Amino acid sequence: TDLTTLLLSRIRDVADHPEPGVMFKDITPLLADPAAFTALTDAFAEMAGRTGATKIVGLEARGFILGAPVAVRAGLGFIPVRKAGKLPGATLSQSYDLEYGSAEIEVHAEDLSADDRVLVVDDVLATGGTAEASIQLIHRAGAEVAGVAVLMELSFLDGRPRLEAALDGAPLEAL
Ligand code: 5GP
Repeated sequence: TDLTTLLLSRIRDVADHPEPGVMFKDITPLLADPAAFTALTDAFAEMAGRTGATKIVGLEARGFILGAPVAVRAGLGFIPVRKAGKLPGATLSQSYDLEYGSAEIEVHAEDLSADDRVLVVDDVLATGGTAEASIQLIHRAGAEVAGVAVLMELSFLDGRPRLEAALDGAPLEAL
């Protein structure tokens, strides 16, 4: 579609970042283009409405940049899921495996309740580990997952099949 063409034209491939052999998808040209950034925000906000979301969760760090304007546009609250040790209040934590070692993400326990349906927003779905851990956090907070919205899905890393079990029928949409 025209939207896909616009967004793809604003993503830069950076070779060997953050380490040799990785082709990094850099979204900073998209953020710098108000037409593309607005189109992305509108598409995510439409998904929030369609899925009945009551909150937007953004995953550190690019999920903050993309998710915050979606929350404003959709008229919903924004909740940050952060790397461990950053949030000041009482948190729920979830660790997950990386290729080497592990990582841990957190959310403020009081930010989500059983009344919430959460749309998770991030820039790139790679292995799906980060998004899967965020879904586990949301469920442990007692809330439902309305869906996962990403700009890009690196399908060769098989994040989608990994997430689908955790999503239990909720949509994963990549623009
Ligand atoms: P995963 O947990 O799915 O393996 O990795 C996804 C996380 O890593 C996302 O939070 C995303 O921001 C980041 N990420 C992984 N690869 C890329 C990439 O090529 N470009 C960007 N912008 N982010 C990436």
